[in-house]
Amino acid sequence: MREHERVLDALGASHVAVRTPAELDTVDGLIIPGGESTVIDKLTRIFGMRDPLRARIANGMPVFGTCAGLIMLSDRLSDATHDQQTLGGLDVTVRRNAFGSQVESFETTLLAPAVTDDPVAATFIRAPLVEEVGAGVSVLATLTDGRIVAVQQGNLVGISFHPEISGDLSFHNYFVGLVADAVAPVHA
Ligand code: GLN
Repeated sequence: MREHERVLDALGASHVAVRTPAELDTVDGLIIPGGESTVIDKLTRIFGMRDPLRARIANGMPVFGTCAGLIMLSDRLSDATHDQQTLGGLDVTVRRNAFGSQVESFETTLLAPAVTDDPVAATFIRAPLVEEVGAGVSVLATLTDGRIVAVQQGNLVGISFHPEISGDLSFHNYFVGLVADAVAPVHA
């Protein structure tokens, strides 16, 4: 959370913390951070955020999910806990904790040509993997072995890793651009 705020500050993008439906009404885009997706799911339901979030996603609000945030944006999970729900929106199947217990956390650099010309510094923490993508989904980044770790569908961007922890601004910069376009579309 704080890390995302620091990156947004560095990019000069204004931000507020969103915990209630009334706060959600005030924003033009949303970052769903990492954490534990089963807990985020329970909290969104307890705090009455599930339906407002699904409505904003359906209405095209840009949303950027990192790690557990990607899990929340996925239409399908291969290993959901028995009552785990996602918000959905991304036509993908995601496996939670896909790197197993031995390599729970690691850092690497990735190429994401649609996002930036420079290598992206990426931190993976008990990270999910995208196992299948639907026809309307663009793959933004893979590991060197081809496993998918960043996707976009319309205004939804989901990534397995945490660029905010390595202080890499590129994905946030890309997302802020999506929000700016959604607020003031450029007409040719
Ligand atoms: N493993 C977590 C989950 O299933 C995600 C970890 C993270 O967000 N860094 O939600």
